[in-house]
Amino acid sequence: MSEETKAREAICRVGASMFQRGLTFGSTGNISVRLTDGAYLMTPTNASLGELDPGRLTSYDAQGRYRAGDPGTKEAFLHFCMYGRRRDAGAVVHLHATHSVAVSILADVDPEDVLPPLTAYFVMRVGRLPLVPYFPPGDAALAEAVGALAGRHHAVLLANHGPVVAGSSLANAQFAVEELEETAKLFLMLRATPIRPLTPEQADALRRQYNLY
Ligand SMILES: [Zn+2]
Repeated sequence: MSEETKAREAICRVGASMFQRGLTFGSTGNISVRLTDGAYLMTPTNASLGELDPGRLTSYDAQGRYRAGDPGTKEAFLHFCMYGRRRDAGAVVHLHATHSVAVSILADVDPEDVLPPLTAYFVMRVGRLPLVPYFPPGDAALAEAVGALAGRHHAVLLANHGPVVAGSSLANAQFAVEELEETAKLFLMLRATPIRPLTPEQADALRRQYNLY
């Protein structure tokens, strides 16, 4: 089986798995993979991640120009911003996952690091999570704001919208966005309670070990 065929099947499998577990809904969310020749596969516009067809994914050439498949998503630029700044990125996942979106709407979070280091796995898989200010859908300023952060962060949270997460592979991007969503859920569960996150020293030691900003 070719690399592209495998990637097409993997995108559909991961999309269905996330959809079935309620991590995305309706036609929200999108997944992309960068192939070794530099071309891209991405979930199309208006597609439910729960019912993707491997043969209908949108493909783009290495310059991000539409090549084939169903019409591309209007959110493709979020993915290309990540790939453009992160040479190691092999996949990007963007979701409107409920708890992550809820955290992106809170008034009192630190925009440079939205979630505290509640667990070691959050620090190892996500690192520091910056909040990208709100821009209306399609605003070119959103691409600029994501691009400005993507060099230092493989995961960002769009205010009043949701997370965009890159990974060296599709599995790594999936695991990171799921860790982010679960940590957002924990954070919301614990908001009324005094908490004891990892200390700054404990979190820094993990970030150094895993080369995270
Ligand atoms: Zn979105």
